[in-house]
This record gives sequence, structure tokens and C-alpha cells, in this order.
Amino acid sequence: MVKRRINIALDGPSGSGKSTLAKNLARELGFVYIDTGALYRTVGLFVAEHGFEPGDAAGAVSVLSHTKITMRLIDGGGKVFLGTREIGGEIRTPEMSRYASDVSKVPEVREFLLETQREIARENDVVMDGRDIGTVILPKAQVKIFVTASPEARAERRYKELVEKGEKTTYEEVLADMLWRDKNDSSREIAPCVPAKDAVVLDNSKLGIKETVDAALEIFHKKVGA
Ligand code: C5P
Repeated sequence: MVKRRINIALDGPSGSGKSTLAKNLARELGFVYIDTGALYRTVGLFVAEHGFEPGDAAGAVSVLSHTKITMRLIDGGGKVFLGTREIGGEIRTPEMSRYASDVSKVPEVREFLLETQREIARENDVVMDGRDIGTVILPKAQVKIFVTASPEARAERRYKELVEKGEKTTYEEVLADMLWRDKNDSSREIAPCVPAKDAVVLDNSKLGIKETVDAALEIFHKKVGA
């Protein structure tokens, strides 16, 4: 019999510290870390490189048949490939955040990326971070955590990250962008960013990284046992 893998679904809005938490949890537990946002960002990049505007749903659909996106496991994490091209920092810009948020509203794009995500979770113990992992992609995940924090706390973190990377921006710009993405991601009809009914909501506005990881580990051990 094939062993059922342990899946941790980690959802939440941008800037909630989801990916930091997911990476740490995966390391602590020896699981594979999967960043599903990178898949949407890569579709966004491909759409942009074909000269379409972010909100052009028909444009996004038209590029899908020329797109082969795969995720390969390298050093305990999923690396995204567009054809044979390895995708890196080029998808981590504010422009690509907008493209990703817009293409992710297109049902064909979500369908296109569905099986890639499920297949990895079937074959590995994973911590998968995204927006609809607990609700749509892995509804049977043994552990579901919805990480959130106030918009101000999230904007503050993202602002610091961008400044460290040398991006020219202001806190106000980052907050406005975050509120726009929150609205875009949580109000869409398809796979909105909302907690699954059986998810534990973890608000880390006032928690540091270690406290957040400890809280998540406690949730994990309660659900799965030691
Ligand atoms: O997580 P990240 O900020 O990289 O995701 C970029 C965008 O991709 C999000 O704003 C969201 O619109 C979309 N996304 C999604 N479903 C996921 C992961 C990301 O719709 N599972």
C-alpha cells in the first residue's frame, strides 16, 4: 500500500509571514516546502513577456497552451521551471505581484496549475503555502493553518523586505498595494483567500518568527501527534 503523505496547508494574505513560517516548519519537520505563489507569478511573468496587460484574462488564457510550468524538488524546496528556464528573483517584483494577483483570478490559470500542486503533495510530506490550499488544492490536508496579521503589520514587514532588496518604495505605497491585493484575492469568485472551515487561524501581528513557528508546531502536533 502507498503511504499517505502528510500535508500541511498554509494559507493567508500577502505579507502574513506565510512563506517564512512555511520554510521554517518544513525545515523543523523535514518536509518539502512548496511556494505555490511562485507558480502564479511565473504565469504572470509569461503573460507580461508576451506583452499583455495584467488584467487581460483572454491574453493570459492564450499563452497557456505555449506554457510548460514544472516544479522540481531541489534542496528540499520546489523550484519553478518555465520550459527549461529556471525561474528566480525576476518574479519577486511589485509588478509581478500585480500580474500574479490578476492572472490568478482566471479559472483556466487555476485549473492549469492544479495538478502540479496536487501531484507534489501526493508524493511528498509537504508544507504548501498559498491562498486556496486548504479549501481547494488539498481539502484533505491533515493540518490546515490560516496565517494572518493586521494590514499595517504586513505592510511594515513587506516594506522592510523591499527596502533590503534595494527597491525604491514607500510604506504608504506598500500598504496601498497590499490592500489592493487583499481585496483582489479575497473577493474573487474563484478560490478566494479565506480560511477553510477546518483551518486553525493564527494571527501573528504581535508574534515574532520563532513564536509563530512554535505556535504552528503546536497546532501540527495536536493534529498529527508527536
Ligand atoms: O504568495 P504570493 O504573494 O507570491 O502570491 C502571488 C499572488 O498569486 C497572490 O496575490 C495571489 O493572487 C496568487 N496566488 C493564488 N493562489 C495561491 C498562491 C498565490 O491565487 N495558491
